[in-house]
Amino acid sequence: MIVTTSLLLKKAKAGAYAVPALNVDNLESVMGVLLAAKSTGKSVIIQTIPRTLAYGGEGSYIAMVRALYDGGADIAMHLDHGGDEGICARCIESGYTSVMIDGSALPFEENVALTKRVADFAHSRNVSVEGELGTIGGKEETAGSVSYTDPKQAEEFADLTGADSLAVGVGTAHGVYKGTPRIAVDRIYEIASRTDVPLVLHGASGLSREVVRSCIAAGICKINFATQLRQAFTSALRRSLAAHPEAFDPKLYLPDAVEAVKNAAEEIIDLCYS
Ligand SMILES: [Zn+2]
Repeated sequence: MIVTTSLLLKKAKAGAYAVPALNVDNLESVMGVLLAAKSTGKSVIIQTIPRTLAYGGEGSYIAMVRALYDGGADIAMHLDHGGDEGICARCIESGYTSVMIDGSALPFEENVALTKRVADFAHSRNVSVEGELGTIGGKEETAGSVSYTDPKQAEEFADLTGADSLAVGVGTAHGVYKGTPRIAVDRIYEIASRTDVPLVLHGASGLSREVVRSCIAAGICKINFATQLRQAFTSALRRSLAAHPEAFDPKLYLPDAVEAVKNAAEEIIDLCYS
């Protein structure tokens, strides 16, 4: 079934694993991720960022997922980094089972108020909500202003907003890491010791297995992977086109990219559930 992330993350917290949240960009990446969920028998969260919806259409990805999902482990469909109430509401109306409202750039009180409004609306439709506190590097920070999530504020944020999960700033970054990332695993422990809300790690592409494992042990229940899948898709597509320069039918060269996304997603699933 296509269920809420709240349901998946409660099980993950109890089972001390993390549910991988995999960003999709097109039909082929949806196909690859669903094939990986099927082959492993593990739940995944499929997610799209607003820029993806601007590219392919707001209703397109949920429609593809609902058309292609054919049973097996439960999955959820999530809006990643929703920037305002409008896009969250439209995704909820179109069938998403989960949305993120990212108010992390706002002052604390405004972030709380925005997240609570979205959570109240989403919960009335049986949809889960992820909030964010602190900054995740790569896109959100302005130079020199990365802030780690304050554990006491995280507790207050969860209580005041009713959010179902919380993305934390602990040193990860979106995109490709320059140099070795330094992740504040202790901070995850401190936050998890103050609140029961499942914690979310963004920017996991490029972290070592050991670091990801230690983040899960510290209390992370959902881990977002986007770059790793995009890299797998793109490099397989380049190889396939180079190997078949005469090909003009996309159905001949795209299956290699689907397979590459499937393989990358299977690796991620193995890491998050092991
Ligand atoms: Zn993110």
